[in-house]
Amino acid sequence: MKVIVDHSLCEGHGRCMENVPEVFEVRDDDRSYPLMKEIPEELRARVEHAVTVCPRAAIKLVE
Ligand code: SF4
Repeated sequence: MKVIVDHSLCEGHGRCMENVPEVFEVRDDDRSYPLMKEIPEELRARVEHAVTVCPRAAIKLVE
């Protein structure tokens, strides 16, 4: 599974980083950046949760 953040939607609220700091990093430009290309299975549930709490629906998962 890969994770993609749509920077045209992301506003840097940081909910993703609060939930899965191993995977998401909000940088100085107030955009979230995935820190790894392939998400390990053990992080799947937390990343899926991050998708649901993103207020901008900016996170997409690609299998
Ligand atoms: S929770 Fe959504 S809008 Fe907020 S920083 Fe993460 S991806 Fe961007």
